[in-house]
Amino acid sequence: MSNETKKDGHFLSWYFKANLLSRIMIALILGIIVGCILGTAPDAASSFVKYSRFFGDLFIRLLKMIVVPVIVFSLITGAASIAPSQLGRVGLKTIIFYLGTSAFAVVIGLILANILQPGTGLNILGEAGAAGKVSESPALSSVLLNIVPTNPVESLAKGDVLPIIFFALVFGVALAIVRDSKNELTAKTADALYHLCSVCADTMYKVVGGIMQYAPVGVFVLIAIVFAQQGPKAVGPLLFVTLTTYIGLILQIVICYGLLLLLFRLGLIKFLKGCYEASITAFVTRSSSGTLPITLRVSEEKLGAPRSVSSFTLPLGATVNMDGTAIYLAVCAMFIGFAIGQPLNMSQQLTVVITATLAAIGTAGVPGAGAIMLLMVLESVGLNVAEGSAVAAAYAMILGIDALLDMGRTSVNVTGDMAGVCIISKSEKVLDMKKW
Ligand code: ASP
Repeated sequence: MSNETKKDGHFLSWYFKANLLSRIMIALILGIIVGCILGTAPDAASSFVKYSRFFGDLFIRLLKMIVVPVIVFSLITGAASIAPSQLGRVGLKTIIFYLGTSAFAVVIGLILANILQPGTGLNILGEAGAAGKVSESPALSSVLLNIVPTNPVESLAKGDVLPIIFFALVFGVALAIVRDSKNELTAKTADALYHLCSVCADTMYKVVGGIMQYAPVGVFVLIAIVFAQQGPKAVGPLLFVTLTTYIGLILQIVICYGLLLLLFRLGLIKFLKGCYEASITAFVTRSSSGTLPITLRVSEEKLGAPRSVSSFTLPLGATVNMDGTAIYLAVCAMFIGFAIGQPLNMSQQLTVVITATLAAIGTAGVPGAGAIMLLMVLESVGLNVAEGSAVAAAYAMILGIDALLDMGRTSVNVTGDMAGVCIISKSEKVLDMKKW
């Protein structure tokens, strides 16, 4: 018996020891192959869909379970980590730069997706009656007004993402002010609350890590179902959405950072040469936070940014400034709309500008975090990721290639932070121009 258990343990450890990224990629490829084979035998395909759907739906439910706690804790922590004393001129410039470039990134993503229309013609269908069709998308004015919750607890319970984000940000900023209080006890207690939220955020990301262990199974089943119904014609759109995202990422660097740097008389090529170490590290680690030590060193040694600016700007950027993620969110939300034959209309796209910018702020600098935020953006435009729905199937396709998209977007996230530190230092006349 004990031998058996040992054997079992050994069998499972084979699964857990293998690199998660490779497991997800293998699951994706196997899912495509099995799905395409099943697609040739409609009877087998429909029994496969019937019996395997449970495992795919389980994955979707697990992901949805963590969206609200992840947003709440990471946004409170992010906002509360800005000490009001740092909110001088540099702080204000940093926040404007980060918000502005992220919103620009979403717009680039949306424009590109409107032109290239990734996912068009896929016509992914959900189960008849699955509650995942596009629900009525609200008018923009009511979207704006509804950002302010009348009852934050109700918003939390209902999972209304925009009001939750708004309240979490307000709470975080207020907490930052209270942390700075002159009353020692108040400041200490607020600090403890901040650390508590930060630990809760870390805990939620541990849960995400656990759920991701199940991702290969979920991805395999969901992708196999898509391909069983679609056949090999779904491969092209997946490659195309990857291409669209990468074009957006390049445009963000060239147009947004390039022009801003130029405005401050700094050269893009010189900048890219200076920051490539950090950008490449971000590409391979898929984590802005993990890359932070390199980002800090590079910005000082290669780009000549003083520590007085970088020590505030970069850690904040690694938590809240996610331009690559913003592009990814915009392109993928559009892809899913096209893929289910319900392209996002103008008012939905304007909503995406708001939600994706805020979602990018709320994204933690760890691998795969953006994919969780995509769920939130989808819900905000009335695309309900319900089990068995077409939206869930399209989302699963994106999830299958998430690692590929995550590499590029993380690299741009980090590059954007470094562009920020250079521009802000230059505007403060403290950038070491000998490095340029
Ligand atoms: N991996 C990204 C980062 O660390 C976040 C994301 O998943 O979008 O910057």
